[in-house]
Amino acid sequence: MRILILGGTREARELARLTSGERGFEIVSSLAGRVRDPLLPEGQVRIGGFGGVDGLVSYLADTAVDVVVDATHPFAARIGANAAAATSALGVPLLRVRRPGWTEVPGDRWIRVPDPTAAARAIPDLGERVFLTIGRQGVAAFAELSHPWFLIRSIDPPAGPLPPRHELLCARGPFSVDEEMVLFSRRRIDLLVTKDSGGDQTEAKLLAARVAGVPVLMIDRPALAPGVRAVRAVEAAVDWLRDQRDSRPGSLSNQSRTARS
Ligand code: NAP
Repeated sequence: MRILILGGTREARELARLTSGERGFEIVSSLAGRVRDPLLPEGQVRIGGFGGVDGLVSYLADTAVDVVVDATHPFAARIGANAAAATSALGVPLLRVRRPGWTEVPGDRWIRVPDPTAAARAIPDLGERVFLTIGRQGVAAFAELSHPWFLIRSIDPPAGPLPPRHELLCARGPFSVDEEMVLFSRRRIDLLVTKDSGGDQTEAKLLAARVAGVPVLMIDRPALAPGVRAVRAVEAAVDWLRDQRDSRPGSLSNQSRTARS
């Protein structure tokens, strides 16, 4: 069974690691090619966009992909929608792996907003020294804000316009709570802007904000593509892949089930 994992996340690398070498699985991981020095998953990897829904349909058909797992980042909405459309056009099963979002706890001061534009609109009332950790995409939404000072952290420098008063910090997580607390205190951060990415790799900044009493502008996740089956954990995706394999006509388990009935 040929499996395409749409990746670029720790979950996708973990899924490739857990399933590589498993009986009946042939794994290909796909990366968008956004970061200069990506962390590569085990096994076969292809890099670069497919060329929209049509390109993905052609790729799935040409390379005889049997199932697709969309394990991209919770904010990667376009590839998710493309995967939903392309797999539905071909009748290829699709599973979305999306880690749970973060939850506010006592001591947190979160303001939820739907997108980066709404976050940019809210900033002037909330803070003057802003820690912006939304990755390299979407930073342009803050470019017109001339008064607040920004500490912008991303793996690679953002493309496009940046706010006039900023410091750029290129770094890849995970970050420890201590490191984050030092950053908050040395840069005198009074507002954190982040996306509700979930997971423990970049959670430390939320703990640091809580300790420092700094409010958080939390950008909500985009909706899942309608009708797509989703799981929250990599282990559930492994189970789903095994079920897909075992229910295929001609599979060993399917043959023994048929023989028993
Ligand atoms: P996106 O907006 O949903 O996708 C934009 C385009 O990038 C897609 O239409 C597709 O191009 C291409 N693409 C995205 N993921 C791909 C993949 N895994 N393999 C091949 N092509 C892919 O995605 P994004 O938010 O830019 O994220 C790009 C990648 O970075 C994803 O793989 C994601 O897992 C990873 N990532 C994103 C974030 C984030 O905050 N958005 C954070 C960490 C990692 P075509 O239409 O040409 O096929």
